[in-house]
Amino acid sequence: MKVLVINCGSSSFKYQVLDMPSGQALCSGLVERIGDAVGSLTHKFHPGAADEVKHSQEQPFPDHTAGMHAVVALLTDEKLGVIKDLSEIAAVGHRVVMGGEILQKACLVGEAEKKAIRDLSPLAPLHNPANLQGIEVAQALIPNAPSVAVFDTEFHATMPPKSYIYAVPYDLYETLHVRRYGFHGTSHGFVAREAAAFLGKDYDTFNCITCHLGNGCSMAAVQNGKCLDTSMGMTPLAGLVMGTRCGDIDPAIHAYIAQSKGLSVKEIDTMLNKQSGLKGLCGVNDMRDIHTAREQGDAKAQLAFEVFAHAIKKCLGAYYAILGRVDAVIFTAGIGENDNHLRAEVCSGLEHMGISIDPVENDKRLGKPRSISPAGTRVPVLVVPTNEELEIARATLAVLGK
Ligand code: ADP
Repeated sequence: MKVLVINCGSSSFKYQVLDMPSGQALCSGLVERIGDAVGSLTHKFHPGAADEVKHSQEQPFPDHTAGMHAVVALLTDEKLGVIKDLSEIAAVGHRVVMGGEILQKACLVGEAEKKAIRDLSPLAPLHNPANLQGIEVAQALIPNAPSVAVFDTEFHATMPPKSYIYAVPYDLYETLHVRRYGFHGTSHGFVAREAAAFLGKDYDTFNCITCHLGNGCSMAAVQNGKCLDTSMGMTPLAGLVMGTRCGDIDPAIHAYIAQSKGLSVKEIDTMLNKQSGLKGLCGVNDMRDIHTAREQGDAKAQLAFEVFAHAIKKCLGAYYAILGRVDAVIFTAGIGENDNHLRAEVCSGLEHMGISIDPVENDKRLGKPRSISPAGTRVPVLVVPTNEELEIARATLAVLGK
């Protein structure tokens, strides 16, 4: 059975066709710069496999529909295609960022669900309208395949009020739905389950701390297989330091910058989302570039690295405290999976908490779950590759009872 997974942004979308239940990715790709004079489509046939074929094309994609038409042509292409006919697509799973308190679980998308996703747009203005557009385009082009929405917020819906309520006037929660929602939920849920299976533990009694460190970064405290707390907030701007996002800062800074620099709310919002984080501190947001700069003695790059790691270490301590018993610490996503320096820095000096890493294991690379702590450590530290597309495909079929 083949499932098409779509992750749609405002001017780009990613897609993947997975063979289920094996979970094998048959093809994956990315359409970028939709609406620009020239856009690009990068398509991989059998991504990551020995027979991987990469194909790129540049052309204008005036809108998402045009991009999806090009993708559908490739999916059924004689050489690069993975299906003969669109009827082979059993379902389309869509990543939707914000489900709010109304859509707490993955669901089949009909008119009522589309309205709910649209109504939630004020809480996720950069994401939900784009996610909805992806659903509408897919429904128009592949009408026979049911569309399922899988929410970034779902995994965090189990947080208790003490974790999700902000100490601001309570009516802001009641009237404007101001609260912590959390994001990256499909990734946190996926790696937590993978880790329990790797350690041979029962997931329903598994406690862990998951660190999703990519361009966006977040952590979750998982108790008995359920999210107890997470670092992102009402929006993905909160919590850890990220590539271009500031993470937690004193909320008074907002008013101070507005008054001192005469910036508008929108300008400050852009500054905190796009010109802050690692980029704001040292000019680059790619962790690999930061390491190169550090090696060349760049003091700001060194500072950026330290600030980034310090935020993760503090959150690790906080989640250790609220969990009590921790069965594993898990690193995932681009930085979490690949950056041995960062993992070593975060875990340094935590031996008293039963957390330590083996430098030899930490420096190895392996595309599957593995332990990087010395044998017999009280709290195993794991690197678990995330696979949000697979998690979305599984959730999609679960909703459809397939
Ligand atoms: P996204 O959040 O966009 O999905 P990814 O999970 O792909 O992002 O993570 C992107 C981040 O991973 C970038 O900061 C990149 O520098 C970092 N990264 C990728 N490979 C490495 C590596 N070998 N060492 C350190 N950082 C890496």
